[in-house]
Amino acid sequence: MTTETILVLGGSFAGLSAAHYALRHTIPQLPKKEGTKYTVTLVNPSKDFWWRIGGPREIVSRKMMPVNKTYYPIEPAFAYAKDQFTFIQGTATHVDGAGQTVSITTASGEQKSIPYVALIIATGISTASPLFTQGASAAELQATHEAFQKSLPNAKTVVIGGAGPVGVESAGEIAEFLNGKPGFLGSAPKNPKAKVTLICGEKKMLPILRESISQQAEKFLNRLGANVVYNTKVVSATAAGDKTTITLSDGQTMEADIYIDATGVRPNTSFLSKEWLDNRNRVSCNAKTLRVETASAGPRVYVLGDVGSYTRGGVVDQADAIPVVMTNLKTDLVAHISGKAPGPDRTYTPNLKEQQICPIGTSKGVGAFGGRPVPSLMVWGIKGRDYLIGMLATGTVNGDQYKKEKAWKPQPVTAAGQAGLSSG
Ligand SMILES: Cc1cc2nc3c(=O)[nH]c(=O)nc-3n(C[C@H](O)[C@H](O)[C@H](O)COP(=O)(O)OP(=O)(O)OC[C@H]3O[C@@H](n4cnc5c(N)ncnc54)[C@H](O)[C@@H]3O)c2cc1C
Repeated sequence: MTTETILVLGGSFAGLSAAHYALRHTIPQLPKKEGTKYTVTLVNPSKDFWWRIGGPREIVSRKMMPVNKTYYPIEPAFAYAKDQFTFIQGTATHVDGAGQTVSITTASGEQKSIPYVALIIATGISTASPLFTQGASAAELQATHEAFQKSLPNAKTVVIGGAGPVGVESAGEIAEFLNGKPGFLGSAPKNPKAKVTLICGEKKMLPILRESISQQAEKFLNRLGANVVYNTKVVSATAAGDKTTITLSDGQTMEADIYIDATGVRPNTSFLSKEWLDNRNRVSCNAKTLRVETASAGPRVYVLGDVGSYTRGGVVDQADAIPVVMTNLKTDLVAHISGKAPGPDRTYTPNLKEQQICPIGTSKGVGAFGGRPVPSLMVWGIKGRDYLIGMLATGTVNGDQYKKEKAWKPQPVTAAGQAGLSSG
């Protein structure tokens, strides 16, 4: 019996969804081939999926975000397909597109070469701060959070660099933890224990959202004793002993007991050849089909999630991209097996609407959905209570969103449509 493997690199939001989709919908629809078995192999450095979305509250308090709510073992979530599924705790170190193999270093240090018939790269992003990225194990990240939680209660000055959603949410959680909430109509804490400063590189926070929403966010931060400095970038942050000196683009320096770098993310692509990447080091792909078309990639290579050139990032966007990748992968595999593609490509259209919700502390928040502002109470109701854990975490690891295949209607391909198929 020959085994042909759909190999998924990265076992987080994108990779888990792709692996479930492949097992539930792709493999069952492939033409039967005498003596060939199709399987899915998922490779991830940690054996646990971490609910990164809850990070801003989890770093502050283990009580508010217990580990049994934020970490989920990956392998048991695939028990329904155990004869067709393999989990490898390891890290991809090299992809040979021509030979269709990936080199893996396993958690125990063993070197493996995994052949694939189709490859999905879903290795995501790492954050500058170690607080928001899981590496080889849940235990490592939990230790990082515990050390942070030990130092936080005594902090008198906290500086957060970067006023995207992670910076704003973290500033809110930290300021509320240290300074408490003011009364119902209060606009600032009476006796703040700590000075919390958020450094914003632009004239407004939260780049995806409109200015009035950013201003509302500032009011909510001020209520908790956090201030925002605009039009200023962090140039460097140097730790010495218990203090960090932060140098700003206006030449000023600040000293902080705690500094959190929330200025950006780095795609996890160091194991790929440079020619596979765009100028932001993301995996370059056809922006419509999400295939990786670089010549040396070879056939049936796809990218999903924040590591891809096609996306502005975020989990919501993946709901549009996953069915596209998985339909095109199925089409390509059927063509590979039977010599004939069963239909046209499915195409991805980015949703660029104003869309993001951002809790600020445990009872307020700002955001917009589908281009319309969302009231604070609704932000709290959707995300502020538990950072979406109750609504989505178990379902994400179990692939519940993809229990049914996502239906679509093939669109006739026009000349204008063809012209749009440029690499990202
Ligand atoms: C603190 C924080 C809060 C956020 N909140 C939200 C939110 O509220 N809403 C939202 O939509 N988005 C949010 N995001 C963004 C969201 O987390 C990302 O969009 C999401 O994590 C991307 O999913 P992914 O699967 O593409 O990549 P990742 O989640 O980055 O996962 C990639 C996986 O690949 C693994 N990996 C890396 N290198 C290799 C390798 N060489 N071999 C094998 N595996 C590898 C990683 O260990 C990881 O498990 C937040 C991000 C942060 C940091």
